[in-house]
Amino acid sequence: MRNLIIALGDQLDRHSSAFDGFDDEADCVWMAEIEEEASYVWCHKLRIAYFFSAMRHFRNDLIGSGKRVEYHELQPRPSKDRGKTFGEVLRNDVRRLKPEKLIVVEPGDLRVFEHLQEAADELKIALEVRKDRHFYCSIEEFGEYAAGRKNLLLEYFYRTMRKKHDVLMDGSDPVGGQWNFDRDNRESFGRDGPIDVPPPKRFRVDAVTKSVLELVEARFADHPGNLNHFALPVTRRQAKAFLTRFVEHVLPNFGRWEDAMWTDEPFLYHSRLSAPLNLKLLNPRECVAAAVDAYHIGRVRLNSVEGFVRQILGWREFIRGVYWLKMPEYLELNYLEQKADAPSFFWDGETDMQCIRNSMQHVLNHGYAHHIHRLMVLGNFALLWGVDPRKFHEWHMAMYVDAVDWASLPNTLGMSQFGDGGVVGTKPYCSSGNYINKMSNFCSGCRYDYKQRVGEEACPFTTLYWEFLDRQFERLRHNARMKFPIKNVERLRDDGEEIEAIRKQARGLRKQWS
Ligand code: SF4
Repeated sequence: MRNLIIALGDQLDRHSSAFDGFDDEADCVWMAEIEEEASYVWCHKLRIAYFFSAMRHFRNDLIGSGKRVEYHELQPRPSKDRGKTFGEVLRNDVRRLKPEKLIVVEPGDLRVFEHLQEAADELKIALEVRKDRHFYCSIEEFGEYAAGRKNLLLEYFYRTMRKKHDVLMDGSDPVGGQWNFDRDNRESFGRDGPIDVPPPKRFRVDAVTKSVLELVEARFADHPGNLNHFALPVTRRQAKAFLTRFVEHVLPNFGRWEDAMWTDEPFLYHSRLSAPLNLKLLNPRECVAAAVDAYHIGRVRLNSVEGFVRQILGWREFIRGVYWLKMPEYLELNYLEQKADAPSFFWDGETDMQCIRNSMQHVLNHGYAHHIHRLMVLGNFALLWGVDPRKFHEWHMAMYVDAVDWASLPNTLGMSQFGDGGVVGTKPYCSSGNYINKMSNFCSGCRYDYKQRVGEEACPFTTLYWEFLDRQFERLRHNARMKFPIKNVERLRDDGEEIEAIRKQARGLRKQWS
């Protein structure tokens, strides 16, 4: 055998550079379902099933195109597996197959990269790491962008990318005369709630997926979440249909209600493209092109298409750049020195807080919640509670079908928990119950009162918000964007009585939920 091409679970792209020069006679593709990968964090059943199903479909596709594939399927009984860890399974196969060289595209997880390198060193075999063409911005290009900058700031990076790739540009100016339409994208629903939410695109569970679902139920029965709603795109063809459906039916309303939430509406006008994108069943260029085309033919307004483009061409590329620029030290950052574990309702959703209960229902049923549930409900609560940002990242990696290390870490430890002290965001995303009340209908059906900070009916978000500002006062008081909340908590501190009552109320919550 000449080359053994390693295709990882988030590298399901037939056009990846891993396959450049592939010789059907002399080369072989290697893929493996590894128990350790599904259990080193206590993974959601749906996440395990999604990865394995997409991987098996990709394998079948490769075989159908004449490629030889060595594929390890996990067996319903652990004793029948051929190795437990990634390194063990790979080492056994390299010894058996005796390839001249291993080839892999830049992995999206430093830990996996290190396992690979260790295995190759031990086996004394060459490991060729090829560039990942999936992304608009290479790791090196982002390094050049970041060099000498005190502050990385998404906005400048995003503008650079828009210009470089000529996306929504009118010569050297942005289409519509402005780079950002965020102000148009913060509406909440009226009293009657969302209207005409397009039903989610669902895909039939075929025989391949069925056998994966059975495997997950057999091997990972005690893992969180459920498999009752599996309907994700697991092939390239399905992923393309998913994209088309989004652009035609969902994108027109995406911008306006991007930040809104509503009871029992997990998807609203969100794309849910992150899962097939992060497994590389879709390419970001085709997503951006489809959205921009819809704008040019008048189907979609500029605020919606710009908001979507900023997520894909801006934010997604930006956080990948930050991950590779700052790792491995980034994983250890904990600017606010928060040490707590997440309360148990982060795993089972059992709480009387309607906002968390609703967000967790989305997570447990779909391995998904849209970005405001992630940032301003679950992430906000974790921040106010004082969860260790690394543990929050591990929880996020476990619970969301779209979570891959490069995307999860800067989004959770950095943006959501301010663990990096301001690398990806300029202030902590913290708020009282007031924000949740403004952007959803959760508070009207909740036993707590979002306006109250202390007392029987006090909203835990509101109590913990003031306690957080008080507790983190010294670290946050010099942050220009925190000027107003800090001034307000200063007033409370001056009047000692109320802040004491808030501290006591917060201690009571911690006693109850820790
Ligand atoms: Fe959440 Fe507080 Fe509103 Fe209840 S009152 S839904 S706990 S923000």
